[in-house]
Amino acid sequence: MSEVVKVERHDAVAIVMVDSPPVNALSAAVRKGILDGVKNAAADQQVQAIVIACAGRTFIAGADITEFGKPPQSPSLHEVIVEIENCPKPVVAAIHGTALGGGLELALGCHFRVAVKDAKLGLPEVKLGLLPGAGGTQRLPRAVGPELAVKMIVTGDPIGASDALKAGLIEEIIESEPAVGGEAFARKVLAEKRPLRRLRDDDAKLAAAKADRAIFTNAAAAANKRNRGLDAPLAAAEAVSFSLDTPFDEALKKERDSFLKLMNGDQSKAQRYAFFAEREAAKVSGVPEGTKPRKVEKVAIIGAGTMGGGIAMSFANAGIPVTLIETGDEQLKRGLGIMQKNYEATAARGGIPADAPAKRMALITGVVGLENVKDADLIIEAVFETMAIKKEVFTKLDQYAKPGAVLASNTSYLNINEIAAITKRPQDVLGMHFFSPANVMKLCEIVRAEKTAPDVLLTAVAVARRIAKVPAVVGVCDGFVGNRMLAARSKQSEKFLFEGALPQQVDAVVTKFGMPMGPFAMGDLAGLDIGWRSRKDRGIKSEIADALCEAGRFGQKTGKGYYKYEAGSRAPLPDPEVEKLIEETCARLGLKRRTISDDEILERMIYPMVNEGARILEEKIASRPSDIDVIWLYGYGWPIYRGGPMFYADQVGLKHIAERLSFYAKQTNDPSLEPAPLLKRLADEGKTFASLAKG
Ligand code: NAD
Repeated sequence: MSEVVKVERHDAVAIVMVDSPPVNALSAAVRKGILDGVKNAAADQQVQAIVIACAGRTFIAGADITEFGKPPQSPSLHEVIVEIENCPKPVVAAIHGTALGGGLELALGCHFRVAVKDAKLGLPEVKLGLLPGAGGTQRLPRAVGPELAVKMIVTGDPIGASDALKAGLIEEIIESEPAVGGEAFARKVLAEKRPLRRLRDDDAKLAAAKADRAIFTNAAAAANKRNRGLDAPLAAAEAVSFSLDTPFDEALKKERDSFLKLMNGDQSKAQRYAFFAEREAAKVSGVPEGTKPRKVEKVAIIGAGTMGGGIAMSFANAGIPVTLIETGDEQLKRGLGIMQKNYEATAARGGIPADAPAKRMALITGVVGLENVKDADLIIEAVFETMAIKKEVFTKLDQYAKPGAVLASNTSYLNINEIAAITKRPQDVLGMHFFSPANVMKLCEIVRAEKTAPDVLLTAVAVARRIAKVPAVVGVCDGFVGNRMLAARSKQSEKFLFEGALPQQVDAVVTKFGMPMGPFAMGDLAGLDIGWRSRKDRGIKSEIADALCEAGRFGQKTGKGYYKYEAGSRAPLPDPEVEKLIEETCARLGLKRRTISDDEILERMIYPMVNEGARILEEKIASRPSDIDVIWLYGYGWPIYRGGPMFYADQVGLKHIAERLSFYAKQTNDPSLEPAPLLKRLADEGKTFASLAKG
């Protein structure tokens, strides 16, 4: 008998029980165990029906992705499924937890499926840049119809048991333990002499879409509507379409070919890298073994502005009550009003249930006065970005917060060591840098200050995960990791305007690369007046940006910035007035404009960021290149199929990047573009950033 799959016989019913913690992934041992279990049960004269169920917290939750990229080991999942489907005795999958990916494909090979009521079923392969490669694209449309199948496979989102029942994906919702419920169902099948349902042979649900192909093409187009440059969802939709026009066995082969093509392609490689990078980022280095996070039950947030409000919503979304503190009733009312509206808009779009806004707002208690932090285990400060104000707030927090409370600042740029030093408990202070809109963006840079205690750091990481954020630990420097690299890009985008490009040309290159927005559209969204004011404070000039602000062009909020905006629209429209302003400014400064190629724009948008990333690694502000990638993926919308800036740099080749940076340093007379020592060393040695992680 297998270590991970045991077979129990309850007279006529054999239970094939998978027990491979934590998620019963389909490792080679699990596949072999199931294959042998089913074969033996089929051969056993006493057995009349077979149930496949799992121990632990879930049914098979997918492939064992550590096997990806390694030589295939037999038996393949396909072989296991064929054995199940061809079994002359009824085979029932009894599902609890999540039947995902290969787990659901295996269940689709069974003749019947039953599930407990909170089970979830789905084929999320697209999220790793793949498609279901073991018959999922052919059997799911036969189970639920091609419209729902294409939606599930293209989005990768699972459905719950009651939807699965309605759609015909499962036969019954069971009340008891999965193995017990599965066995009871198997006995019913035997008693009723139900015919075996082999999805392979059952085309009934395909008939309508076969007769009218538009049924399918419309569903496929709707599912792919928000696809920005990803190959896998398109290939997945195509694979589902094979179910309508290609005989089953041939369609399986075509599905397999598409799967292998994706598996060997750059996009899936990047997406699988991102998957591991995210997990890696949650592991904090330099923390003594056995360190435990502090307990966090009560949370206070200071400031109900753009960020404080979004952060409060993130906690409420996770069901965690928060106290939201402001300076006055007016500010509080305004902040709470914005949150309420925001929730209502999401509910109106169907993003959350209709009763969610009221439930979530009830978790947010607005109060005036910092003395209200006294019960909080974690306090997150999100007041104005001014050191004097932050110091005033932290001095009061030191006075009012209970001993052992974690004190976090959401500052974007300010020195957290300096903020910590104003308190008598610098060990309890750190940064939790959320990204705007904070209720949406998944990244939280956890900023470790000089004196931050290890358990405080772990507490922040654990809390970030509890509210469904992706934490990445960074050190103190101007702008931390994300904004510091962004500054390297902004410097180039600004220079382009003086050299000959227009905002729309630069933005088009950046969005074509896959970023959600270019630097100028992003500036318009954030508000150009913020930078203008900060430049004035520091006595710095930026001729074009200053001229725009002097003309009252603050971005979207004034309907004009680098672009113009029609009333009620956020779509940036190129503005001849801006073009004129840029040209006149250049003429006034005696600058000769030239034609700049898209290639140059792309290189100068990305490579200086990579260079800054190398400096960040050298200075140990980030401990892993993959942490930098996580920051860009989840804080700035870096396209997942390009893995992140450091991963992308490795793909392009560091030697090439170092050479181009040197070239641009000379061309634009900007020594800061010369390759950082780490980049230069890796380039000279023919190595990658990834090689650093391997030591
Ligand atoms: P905001 O101006 O929208 O909100 C600040 C709020 O803090 C205001 O409502 C103000 O009344 C309140 N406040 C000021 N002093 C206070 C005090 N003593 N006690 C209680 N409340 C007080 O600013 P924001 O955009 O939310 O930024 C807040 C912080 O987050 C800043 O440090 C900023 O750098 C950082 N941040 C902003 C963004 C962004 O995109 N806006 C992104 C990441 C981080």
